[in-house]
Amino acid sequence: MTPERYAKILRVLSRRQPTLTVLMDQVNKPHNLSAIIRTCDAVGVLEAHAVPPSDGRELDFTGDTFEATSGSAHKWVRVQRHVDAVQAVRGLQARGFQVLATHLSQRSVDYRDADYTRPTCVLLGAEKWGVGEGAAGAADGNIIIPMYGMVQSLNVSVAAATILFEAQRQRLATGMYGAPQLSPTELREQAFEWSYPDLAPGYRERGEPYPALDDAGQIVP
Ligand code: SAM
Repeated sequence: MTPERYAKILRVLSRRQPTLTVLMDQVNKPHNLSAIIRTCDAVGVLEAHAVPPSDGRELDFTGDTFEATSGSAHKWVRVQRHVDAVQAVRGLQARGFQVLATHLSQRSVDYRDADYTRPTCVLLGAEKWGVGEGAAGAADGNIIIPMYGMVQSLNVSVAAATILFEAQRQRLATGMYGAPQLSPTELREQAFEWSYPDLAPGYRERGEPYPALDDAGQIVP
């Protein structure tokens, strides 16, 4: 751990947006998953959510395709797995998130008309089927990126990036990247986990608090 590396970790964590997230509903292609995670890192998503494909396959966060497309972003964005999209939507709503499903319906609005300064989860659908009707119905709103071409939809990672950077634009305009959104305790703990990924699990297993770090990121003896 160099002081420069630790300073970068603190700088990135001070801009993390714990109130902005995505829920990937059965997005299963590794290059799409990894591209979405990479965008999440870029806009400051702390934790993403995913429902694995219904065919019983697990989410594939490994392999050359995933590694190559993610640019190692998966190290910096936790992914919380859920069994079912509707339950995941309700759980996020119970935590205070508005869930905006990327879904064409009678109540769909242009994605730019949504307020992403509120705690927001963007629900993204599977490549083949899109967002399920149940999850779209349970969501607080439906949003679409207007399409004027011959093709009906975008690649899911492109749609995710388009919407998340609109969220970033709105949050920049209201100063949400200017002050840490994580509490001092969350920031300190996350900084330890990112700085010492090999040591952190041991502390958690033993139920011990993480040790303090000095200004250069070294463990205080
Ligand atoms: N056949 C699917 C359908 O009917 O929804 C197309 C799914 S599309 C390839 C995969 C995902 O990308 C969608 O579920 C949505 O999350 C996102 N997406 C693609 N185009 C979009 C658009 N124009 N507006 C909003 N989201 C879009």
